[in-house]
Order: sequence, then structure tokens, then C-alpha cells
Amino acid sequence: MAVLTIRLARVIPVDKTVVRQLAKSLNDDLLREFKLASRQTKNLAKSLRDIRSVWLQDETEVTDVRGLEKAVKIVFRVLPGRDSTLMTSAAVGTTSHGPVLVVDLSGGWTLEEALDAMSFRHGVDARLYDLLLHEITHLIDVLRKPEYASQHGDVSDEKAYYNDPAEVRAYMQTVVDEISYHKDRLAKLLKVFGPQKGMQMILNLSKTWVQISPIWTPSNKKKVIKSVYQFMGSTGALDG
Ligand SMILES: [Zn+2]
Repeated sequence: MAVLTIRLARVIPVDKTVVRQLAKSLNDDLLREFKLASRQTKNLAKSLRDIRSVWLQDETEVTDVRGLEKAVKIVFRVLPGRDSTLMTSAAVGTTSHGPVLVVDLSGGWTLEEALDAMSFRHGVDARLYDLLLHEITHLIDVLRKPEYASQHGDVSDEKAYYNDPAEVRAYMQTVVDEISYHKDRLAKLLKVFGPQKGMQMILNLSKTWVQISPIWTPSNKKKVIKSVYQFMGSTGALDG
């Protein structure tokens, strides 16, 4: 594969260490607010939405790896209804005060259930990290080029949503991130199984790839595969 075409599919540079720290600290702050609310024991059986419609309001600096910096307001908004996960979705938008990143909580959960879920720290952290990585990728994308904003905020038309160029770039970020946890195995997979089957096995290490690739157009699939090649090149996995 030519180096030039690989360059076109580079993932948007986001400092993932910062995103991970942000997920942890937001998680701690939200947990602190939940605990504060639970001091009134009658709150424990109430739904999150009955207690408050907006939880934590915070402001943070978001930085990509080249030092592009932006203050972002972060809000936990409580949606009506009940979802299987406490943190259901997220979105970025702009207000007159600048960008805002909204994380949606499932309002049907009681405070007690939310506290329980958050005591399994790892699961909630990981979910928040995934949501933040996706939205911060959008944010940095738009800061670099405002015309790159996603055109499909709603997911009712699945094919249009997942094939929106901004969404392809955001999900590409997650695919590469998920594969990066296996970076010590990638060279071996290619060597043992060959470029075709080996690459398929590498892609299947990403649950996001498994879920979304059937919906992507062939050309978007190709872009994501190129970004994975590009990542592997940067880790030396293609050298052997
Ligand atoms: Zn998105």
C-alpha cells in the first residue's frame, strides 16, 4: 500500500491520556454529587430526573496532541426514560460562550442504582471514556475545520449517520483506539495469517469495527482500514 494514500486516512490527533484523565475526574466529581444528594436518604429511591435535570457543570481544557487548546463546558444532562446504561449518549454543540459537551444520563435510574453502578468504577469510567473520545474527536475536527461538523445529529437514518464523514472520523478514532490495546500482537497476526486474513483478525479486535463496518460504504471501510494501517506503521508493526 502506498504511503501517500495512507496519509490521507490519519486519525485525528487527540491526546488520549488527557481524555482518560478527564473521564476519571468527571466520574469522581459526578459520584461526589450523587453522594451529596444521597445524604437526604429519601433521595435514594427517587429517579435522577426527579432530583435534578442537570447534574455536574464543569469546565475543562481540551487539547489535541499538537497543542490546540479550547475551554469546553461539560454538563451532565438527565434524559427522560430508562436506558440499559447509566451514561447513554453524548453530544457536542456550541453556545455563545463557546463549545459545550453534554453527557446524557438515563433519567429513569434511581439515585441508589446510579451509586451502585458507579461503585463498579471500571465499567463507568470506560463508558465515559468512549463517549468523551468520540465527542472530543468531533470537537477537535470542528476546531480545525468548522465545515467538518457532523450533519447527522440524529441516528434515525442509521446508514446516513454512520457514513457521515465526521462520524466516520470519530468512529475511526475508536476503532484505532480499541486495536491499540493489542498493539503487541498485531505484527504477529499479520505474519502468521498473512495480510488478508491477518488484517481481518486485527480489525475484529475492535468491537466498534464489528458493529459498524457492515453499515459503512466500501469507501468508508477502506478509509478506516487505511487509518489502522497508518497506526500500525507508527507502532512499527509493519516493519517485520
Ligand atoms: Zn458522533
